[in-house]
Amino acid sequence: ARLAALASWTGPGVTADGHPVPLLANIGGPAELVAAVAAGAEGIGLYRTEFLFLGRAEPPSAEEQRRAYQAALDAFPEGKVVVRTLDGGADKPLAFLPTAAEPNPALGERGLRRFRRSPAVMDVQLGALAALASDRLSVMAPMVATCEEAAWFARECGEKGLMDVGVMIEIPSAALRAADVLARVDFVSVGTNDLSQYAFAADRQLGAVSALHDPWQPGLLDLVALVGDAAAQAGKPCGVCGESAADAALACVLVGLGASTLSMAPSALAAVRAGLAAHTLEQCRTAARVARAQSGADEARAAARVHLPGLA
Ligand code: PEP
Ligand code: MG
Repeated sequence: ARLAALASWTGPGVTADGHPVPLLANIGGPAELVAAVAAGAEGIGLYRTEFLFLGRAEPPSAEEQRRAYQAALDAFPEGKVVVRTLDGGADKPLAFLPTAAEPNPALGERGLRRFRRSPAVMDVQLGALAALASDRLSVMAPMVATCEEAAWFARECGEKGLMDVGVMIEIPSAALRAADVLARVDFVSVGTNDLSQYAFAADRQLGAVSALHDPWQPGLLDLVALVGDAAAQAGKPCGVCGESAADAALACVLVGLGASTLSMAPSALAAVRAGLAAHTLEQCRTAARVARAQSGADEARAAARVHLPGLA
Protein backbone atom coordinates (compact mmCIF):
# COMPACT_ATOMS: atom_id res chain seq x y z
CA ALA A 1 0.00 0.00 0.00
CA ARG A 2 2.89 2.30 0.83
CA LEU A 3 4.43 1.64 -2.58
CA ALA A 4 1.08 2.20 -4.26
CA ALA A 5 0.82 5.57 -2.54
CA LEU A 6 4.37 6.46 -3.53
CA ALA A 7 3.73 5.39 -7.10
CA SER A 8 1.79 8.61 -7.46
CA TRP A 9 4.73 10.69 -6.17
CA THR A 10 5.51 13.19 -8.89
CA GLY A 11 7.96 15.47 -7.11
CA PRO A 12 11.74 15.47 -7.42
CA GLY A 13 13.78 12.30 -7.04
CA VAL A 14 14.33 11.49 -3.38
CA THR A 15 14.81 8.39 -1.26
CA ALA A 16 12.32 7.47 1.47
CA ASP A 17 14.62 9.10 4.04
CA GLY A 18 14.92 12.35 2.14
CA HIS A 19 18.23 11.93 0.28
CA PRO A 20 17.77 13.87 -3.01
CA VAL A 21 18.67 12.10 -6.26
CA PRO A 22 17.80 14.39 -9.17
CA LEU A 23 16.11 12.40 -11.94
CA LEU A 24 17.03 13.67 -15.38
CA ALA A 25 16.19 12.80 -18.96
CA ASN A 26 18.28 11.51 -21.86
CA ILE A 27 17.38 13.27 -25.10
CA GLY A 28 18.67 13.37 -28.68
CA GLY A 29 17.23 16.72 -29.75
CA PRO A 30 14.67 19.47 -29.08
CA ALA A 31 11.76 17.28 -30.24
CA GLU A 32 12.23 15.08 -27.17
CA LEU A 33 11.97 17.93 -24.68
CA VAL A 34 8.18 17.79 -24.47
CA ALA A 35 8.24 14.17 -23.32
CA ALA A 36 11.00 14.93 -20.82
CA VAL A 37 9.04 17.80 -19.25
CA ALA A 38 5.79 15.81 -19.28
CA ALA A 39 7.50 12.93 -17.47
CA GLY A 40 8.60 15.28 -14.70
CA ALA A 41 12.33 15.21 -15.43
CA GLU A 42 14.28 17.70 -13.31
CA GLY A 43 16.60 18.55 -16.18
CA ILE A 44 18.61 16.92 -18.95
CA GLY A 45 21.35 14.54 -17.82
CA LEU A 46 22.45 13.49 -21.30
CA TYR A 47 21.90 15.52 -24.45
CA ARG A 48 23.16 13.24 -27.24
CA THR A 49 24.12 16.01 -29.63
CA GLU A 50 25.25 13.67 -32.42
CA PHE A 51 21.61 13.39 -33.44
CA LEU A 52 21.77 17.05 -34.50
CA PHE A 53 24.65 16.12 -36.82
CA LEU A 54 23.74 12.67 -38.20
CA GLY A 55 22.59 12.37 -41.80
CA ARG A 56 23.75 15.84 -42.77
CA ALA A 57 26.26 16.91 -45.38
CA GLU A 58 27.45 19.81 -43.20
CA PRO A 59 27.43 20.22 -39.44
CA PRO A 60 24.68 22.43 -37.99
CA SER A 61 25.74 26.09 -37.74
CA ALA A 62 26.67 27.69 -34.43
CA GLU A 63 23.32 29.47 -34.46
CA GLU A 64 21.33 26.30 -35.06
CA GLN A 65 23.22 24.53 -32.30
CA ARG A 66 22.80 27.43 -29.94
CA ARG A 67 19.04 27.34 -30.49
CA ALA A 68 18.91 23.58 -29.89
CA TYR A 69 20.79 23.86 -26.59
CA GLN A 70 18.89 26.99 -25.54
CA ALA A 71 15.61 25.10 -26.02
CA ALA A 72 16.70 22.60 -23.38
CA LEU A 73 17.61 25.37 -20.92
CA ASP A 74 14.23 27.02 -21.61
CA ALA A 75 12.34 23.75 -21.11
CA PHE A 76 13.84 23.41 -17.61
CA PRO A 77 14.04 26.97 -16.27
CA GLU A 78 15.41 25.76 -12.95
CA GLY A 79 17.06 22.53 -14.02
CA LYS A 80 20.50 21.47 -15.13
CA VAL A 81 21.25 20.60 -18.74
CA VAL A 82 24.22 18.35 -19.45
CA VAL A 83 25.24 18.54 -23.09
CA ARG A 84 27.48 15.81 -24.44
CA THR A 85 29.84 16.87 -27.20
CA LEU A 86 29.64 15.12 -30.54
CA ASP A 87 29.93 11.33 -30.20
CA GLY A 88 30.60 10.31 -33.80
CA GLY A 89 32.69 7.57 -35.31
CA ALA A 90 32.46 4.63 -37.67
CA ASP A 91 29.40 3.38 -35.72
CA LYS A 92 27.64 6.78 -35.97
CA PRO A 93 29.05 8.00 -39.29
CA LEU A 94 29.16 11.70 -40.09
CA ALA A 95 29.38 12.65 -43.77
CA PHE A 96 31.46 15.75 -43.05
CA LEU A 97 33.92 13.84 -40.84
CA PRO A 98 34.72 10.70 -42.76
CA THR A 99 36.52 8.02 -40.78
CA ALA A 100 38.76 5.44 -42.36
CA ALA A 101 37.17 1.99 -42.65
CA GLU A 102 37.75 0.38 -39.28
CA PRO A 103 37.70 -3.34 -38.56
CA ASN A 104 36.35 -2.65 -35.03
CA PRO A 105 34.37 0.60 -35.06
CA ALA A 106 33.60 0.41 -31.35
CA LEU A 107 37.33 0.40 -30.69
CA GLY A 108 38.13 3.01 -33.28
CA GLU A 109 38.34 6.72 -33.58
CA ARG A 110 35.00 7.62 -32.04
CA GLY A 111 33.71 10.10 -29.49
CA LEU A 112 36.30 12.44 -28.04
CA ARG A 113 39.03 10.85 -30.17
CA ARG A 114 37.31 11.97 -33.38
CA PHE A 115 36.20 15.32 -31.91
CA ARG A 116 39.75 16.13 -30.96
CA ARG A 117 40.93 15.64 -34.53
CA SER A 118 38.21 17.96 -35.85
CA PRO A 119 39.11 21.39 -34.49
CA ALA A 120 36.68 23.27 -36.74
CA VAL A 121 33.68 21.19 -35.64
CA MET A 122 34.80 21.35 -32.05
CA ASP A 123 35.21 25.12 -32.14
CA VAL A 124 31.69 25.64 -33.42
CA GLN A 125 30.11 23.29 -30.87
CA LEU A 126 32.02 24.56 -27.86
CA GLY A 127 31.48 28.12 -29.10
CA ALA A 128 27.72 27.58 -29.34
CA LEU A 129 27.71 26.19 -25.81
CA ALA A 130 29.94 28.96 -24.49
CA ALA A 131 27.47 31.52 -25.82
CA LEU A 132 24.96 30.05 -23.35
CA ALA A 133 27.40 29.60 -20.48
CA SER A 134 25.56 29.55 -17.17
CA ASP A 135 25.71 27.62 -13.95
CA ARG A 136 22.83 25.48 -15.26
CA LEU A 137 24.72 24.33 -18.34
CA SER A 138 27.24 21.50 -18.11
CA VAL A 139 29.31 20.03 -20.90
CA MET A 140 30.75 16.53 -21.00
CA ALA A 141 32.86 14.46 -23.34
CA PRO A 142 32.10 10.88 -24.42
CA MET A 143 34.59 8.02 -24.76
CA VAL A 144 37.30 9.25 -22.44
CA ALA A 145 39.93 6.59 -21.78
CA THR A 146 42.68 8.49 -19.94
CA CYS A 147 43.08 11.40 -17.56
CA GLU A 148 45.18 13.12 -20.22
CA GLU A 149 42.06 13.21 -22.41
CA ALA A 150 39.97 14.49 -19.50
CA ALA A 151 42.54 17.21 -18.78
CA TRP A 152 42.67 18.20 -22.46
CA PHE A 153 38.87 18.49 -22.66
CA ALA A 154 38.65 20.47 -19.43
CA ARG A 155 41.32 22.87 -20.71
CA GLU A 156 39.59 23.40 -24.06
CA CYS A 157 36.24 24.02 -22.37
CA GLY A 158 37.77 26.27 -19.74
CA GLU A 159 39.43 28.42 -22.40
CA LYS A 160 36.01 28.90 -23.98
CA GLY A 161 34.55 30.01 -20.65
CA LEU A 162 32.45 26.91 -19.96
CA MET A 163 31.97 26.56 -16.22
CA ASP A 164 30.96 23.00 -15.39
CA VAL A 165 32.92 20.44 -17.35
CA GLY A 166 32.79 16.69 -16.98
CA VAL A 167 33.46 13.45 -18.77
CA MET A 168 31.60 10.22 -19.29
CA ILE A 169 32.99 7.11 -17.71
CA GLU A 170 32.23 4.45 -20.28
CA ILE A 171 35.63 2.85 -20.79
CA PRO A 172 36.96 0.57 -18.02
CA SER A 173 40.36 2.30 -17.96
CA ALA A 174 38.62 5.54 -16.95
CA ALA A 175 36.63 3.75 -14.24
CA LEU A 176 39.77 2.14 -12.87
CA ARG A 177 41.47 5.54 -12.68
CA ALA A 178 38.35 7.52 -11.72
CA ALA A 179 40.16 9.46 -8.99
CA ASP A 180 42.75 10.74 -11.48
CA VAL A 181 40.03 11.63 -13.97
CA LEU A 182 37.95 13.40 -11.31
CA ALA A 183 40.96 15.50 -10.32
CA ARG A 184 40.76 17.09 -13.78
CA VAL A 185 37.01 17.72 -14.15
CA ASP A 186 34.00 18.99 -12.20
CA PHE A 187 31.87 15.83 -12.48
CA VAL A 188 31.60 12.43 -14.12
CA SER A 189 28.67 10.55 -15.61
CA VAL A 190 28.78 6.78 -16.02
CA GLY A 191 27.58 5.46 -19.38
CA THR A 192 26.71 1.89 -18.55
CA ASN A 193 25.88 0.93 -22.15
CA ASP A 194 29.41 1.38 -23.42
CA LEU A 195 30.99 0.53 -20.08
CA SER A 196 29.32 -2.87 -20.35
CA GLN A 197 30.34 -3.24 -24.00
CA TYR A 198 33.99 -2.64 -23.18
CA ALA A 199 34.10 -4.48 -19.86
CA PHE A 200 32.62 -7.66 -21.31
CA ALA A 201 34.25 -7.29 -24.76
CA ALA A 202 30.80 -7.70 -26.29
CA ASP A 203 29.60 -5.51 -29.17
CA ARG A 204 26.44 -3.74 -27.96
CA GLN A 205 24.98 -3.92 -31.48
CA LEU A 206 25.39 -7.66 -31.83
CA GLY A 207 22.40 -9.77 -30.79
CA ALA A 208 24.54 -12.91 -30.52
CA VAL A 209 26.40 -11.52 -27.51
CA SER A 210 23.56 -9.54 -25.93
CA ALA A 211 23.29 -11.94 -22.98
CA LEU A 212 26.63 -10.56 -21.78
CA HIS A 213 25.04 -7.11 -21.52
CA ASP A 214 22.93 -7.85 -18.47
CA PRO A 215 23.37 -4.60 -16.48
CA TRP A 216 23.19 -6.59 -13.24
CA GLN A 217 26.55 -8.22 -13.96
CA PRO A 218 28.52 -7.87 -10.73
CA GLY A 219 31.60 -6.95 -12.78
CA LEU A 220 29.78 -3.92 -14.13
CA LEU A 221 28.51 -3.01 -10.65
CA ASP A 222 32.11 -3.19 -9.38
CA LEU A 223 33.23 -0.69 -12.02
CA VAL A 224 30.38 1.68 -11.12
CA ALA A 225 31.34 1.32 -7.44
CA LEU A 226 34.92 2.37 -8.22
CA VAL A 227 33.57 5.55 -9.79
CA GLY A 228 31.02 6.20 -7.03
CA ASP A 229 33.68 5.79 -4.33
CA ALA A 230 36.15 8.05 -6.15
CA ALA A 231 33.48 10.72 -6.63
CA ALA A 232 32.50 10.61 -2.95
CA GLN A 233 36.16 10.92 -2.02
CA ALA A 234 36.59 13.87 -4.36
CA GLY A 235 33.31 15.46 -3.26
CA LYS A 236 32.18 15.71 -6.89
CA PRO A 237 28.95 14.60 -8.58
CA CYS A 238 28.69 11.17 -10.19
CA GLY A 239 25.76 10.68 -12.55
CA VAL A 240 24.65 7.53 -14.31
CA CYS A 241 23.17 8.05 -17.77
CA GLY A 242 23.25 4.58 -19.32
CA GLU A 243 20.19 2.38 -19.69
CA SER A 244 20.87 0.76 -16.30
CA ALA A 245 19.38 3.82 -14.62
CA ALA A 246 16.00 3.02 -16.23
CA ASP A 247 15.49 -0.22 -14.24
CA ALA A 248 13.83 0.85 -10.98
CA ALA A 249 15.55 -1.76 -8.80
CA LEU A 250 18.92 -1.22 -10.45
CA ALA A 251 18.47 2.54 -10.08
CA CYS A 252 18.30 2.03 -6.30
CA VAL A 253 21.45 -0.09 -6.49
CA LEU A 254 23.23 2.61 -8.50
CA VAL A 255 22.34 5.15 -5.82
CA GLY A 256 23.72 2.69 -3.27
CA LEU A 257 26.94 2.55 -5.31
CA GLY A 258 27.29 6.33 -5.14
CA ALA A 259 25.32 7.77 -8.06
CA SER A 260 24.23 11.29 -7.18
CA THR A 261 21.94 11.78 -10.22
CA LEU A 262 20.26 9.37 -12.63
CA SER A 263 19.43 10.14 -16.24
CA MET A 264 17.23 7.96 -18.41
CA ALA A 265 14.66 7.76 -21.18
CA PRO A 266 11.66 9.88 -20.06
CA SER A 267 9.37 6.82 -20.15
CA ALA A 268 11.32 5.26 -17.25
CA LEU A 269 11.18 8.25 -14.91
CA ALA A 270 7.89 7.49 -13.13
CA ALA A 271 8.86 3.96 -12.10
CA VAL A 272 12.34 5.01 -10.96
CA ARG A 273 10.92 7.95 -8.99
CA ALA A 274 8.44 5.66 -7.20
CA GLY A 275 11.07 3.00 -6.52
CA LEU A 276 13.50 5.47 -4.98
CA ALA A 277 10.80 7.14 -2.89
CA ALA A 278 9.96 3.76 -1.36
CA HIS A 279 13.48 2.92 -0.16
CA THR A 280 16.01 4.51 2.14
CA LEU A 281 19.59 5.27 1.19
CA GLU A 282 20.64 2.53 3.61
CA GLN A 283 18.42 0.00 1.81
CA CYS A 284 19.97 1.10 -1.50
CA ARG A 285 23.46 0.62 -0.07
CA THR A 286 22.59 -2.77 1.33
CA ALA A 287 21.05 -3.85 -1.98
CA ALA A 288 24.23 -2.70 -3.76
CA ARG A 289 26.46 -4.56 -1.33
CA VAL A 290 24.58 -7.87 -1.56
CA ALA A 291 24.36 -7.58 -5.36
CA ARG A 292 28.13 -7.16 -5.63
CA ALA A 293 28.66 -10.14 -3.36
CA GLN A 294 27.06 -12.46 -5.98
CA SER A 295 28.88 -14.12 -8.83
CA GLY A 296 26.29 -13.69 -11.59
CA ALA A 297 23.71 -11.23 -12.88
CA ASP A 298 20.61 -13.29 -12.01
CA GLU A 299 21.88 -13.88 -8.49
CA ALA A 300 22.73 -10.18 -8.08
CA ARG A 301 19.24 -9.14 -9.22
CA ALA A 302 17.56 -11.62 -6.86
CA ALA A 303 19.76 -10.71 -3.88
CA ALA A 304 19.20 -6.97 -4.33
CA ARG A 305 15.44 -7.36 -4.58
CA VAL A 306 15.23 -8.92 -1.15
CA HIS A 307 16.27 -5.51 0.19
CA LEU A 308 14.08 -3.52 -2.21
CA PRO A 309 10.60 -4.81 -1.40
CA GLY A 310 7.96 -4.00 -3.97
CA LEU A 311 10.33 -3.69 -6.91
CA ALA A 312 9.92 -6.42 -9.49
C1 PEP B 1 26.39 4.90 -22.66
O1 PEP B 1 27.29 4.47 -23.38
O2 PEP B 1 25.98 4.32 -21.64
C2 PEP B 1 25.72 6.16 -23.00
C3 PEP B 1 24.86 6.72 -22.17
O3 PEP B 1 25.99 6.73 -24.21
P1 PEP B 1 25.39 6.16 -25.59
O4 PEP B 1 24.33 5.16 -25.24
O5 PEP B 1 24.87 7.34 -26.31
O6 PEP B 1 26.60 5.55 -26.22
MG1 MG C 1 28.22 5.71 -24.86
